[in-house]
Amino acid sequence: MSEFKKIDEVLDKKYVDKVIKLRGWVYRKRELKDIVFLIIRDSSNIIQCIVKKENEDFEKARKITTESSLEILGVLKEDKRAPNGYEIEVKKLNVYNIAERFPITKDQSKEFLLDVRHLWIRSRKMNSVLKVRSTVFSAIREFFTKNGYYEVQAPSFTKAACEGGATLFEVKYFDEKVYLTQSWQLYAEAMIFSLEKIFCIAPSFRAEKSRTRRHLTEFWHAECEEAWKGNDEIMETEEKLICYLIKRVIEERKKELEFLKRDVTFLEKIKPPFPRIRYEEAIDIANKNGLNLNYKSDLGADEERVISNQFSTPFFIHHYPKELKAFYHRPDPKDPEHILCNDLLAPEGYGEIIGGGERIWEKEVLIQRIKEQGLNPKDYEWYIDLRRYGSIPHAGFGLGIERFVTWICKLPHIMDSIPFPRTINRFYP
Ligand code: ATP
Ligand code: MG
Repeated sequence: MSEFKKIDEVLDKKYVDKVIKLRGWVYRKRELKDIVFLIIRDSSNIIQCIVKKENEDFEKARKITTESSLEILGVLKEDKRAPNGYEIEVKKLNVYNIAERFPITKDQSKEFLLDVRHLWIRSRKMNSVLKVRSTVFSAIREFFTKNGYYEVQAPSFTKAACEGGATLFEVKYFDEKVYLTQSWQLYAEAMIFSLEKIFCIAPSFRAEKSRTRRHLTEFWHAECEEAWKGNDEIMETEEKLICYLIKRVIEERKKELEFLKRDVTFLEKIKPPFPRIRYEEAIDIANKNGLNLNYKSDLGADEERVISNQFSTPFFIHHYPKELKAFYHRPDPKDPEHILCNDLLAPEGYGEIIGGGERIWEKEVLIQRIKEQGLNPKDYEWYIDLRRYGSIPHAGFGLGIERFVTWICKLPHIMDSIPFPRTINRFYP
């Protein structure tokens, strides 16, 4: 007997009139008097199968329900009316499990689909998103490895905040109190003194209380840190990474993007260099488009939507006022009220996908910035040490992988970009 094939593989003229074996789940079922239509799905695709009355398994087929698991042996036929243009005439049917009444039927609310997320991830939509996501993870690794970066890991339990106290998750650590990491930042800066060019893919945790379309409490962070680089140079690395990811997703996942109705030609037009605008210019763009901001205003989801709707390519905003950025960002020595930092914003209203910049490498400046932000330098002793022993210029960035996947698939909400999203009121299943 021939081995099992994947549906995608058999959607091919060369298998017409050949006997094939498939296994999977029932995606849809329709029954006429003497024929049962089963649309079968597996990880790769869907295919229509027909079981005729004269088949000894006809009664079995009639009892089958949505999401039942089975294997079939049958003959492939071309059929223009079938989805994907092929159909299988079933000769033999084996059932693994007759599914109970599947709770997901047409027209379900978003909330319900989140309640049954463990089942909804079987949907064609989630299947497509998860494949794009998988490609993004491997492409990030490819990019960094090809360009001479080492992959490293940082702890998830930390003693000090790096992105501000407001979004820290506190954890009981035996008799002590620690936090879940918001970023690898402080540890990355220690590791570049050994490896110079490093990256990491890991979850970051932030107790985001505001409900937006782009915040999770647990997200996957692709972070990069590099010795001897400044803000301008790290922006170049960021844009190369993003272009590489777009290219790889188009190469590997065109079918999925099309299924998700993402306009691939829009993505194909994206080329470096990305526009670089100063923070004040971004504020001016926002104000020209109906907002009323000043040159100290923070840019959140709403403001970034207005600004990024004016762009059809990712673009950088650099030189934020120092009050708006974490203590480790380096003030511009020529303009110390502003920071040598950059945010990379996705176009089409999506907004920030990367935060990056140059880090402070002068000890005195670092201590002053820690104090200015109301933090205690004592809590950062080991980190300050890095400025005592062979300090160097360095820069880095963090890409929110779900933010990128949401944009590249043009999804309406970040929760659609991860199998089991975590938000302020969502931690089940
Ligand atoms: P925002 O202003 O949108 O909250 P941030 O300035 O806090 O973002 P950074 O600290 O610069 O973000 O983190 C780097 C990247 O990590 C961001 O550009 C974004 O892509 C991603 N990121 C940050 N917070 C979240 C979150 N809560 N959920 C998903 N992704 C996030
Ligand atoms: Mg934030």
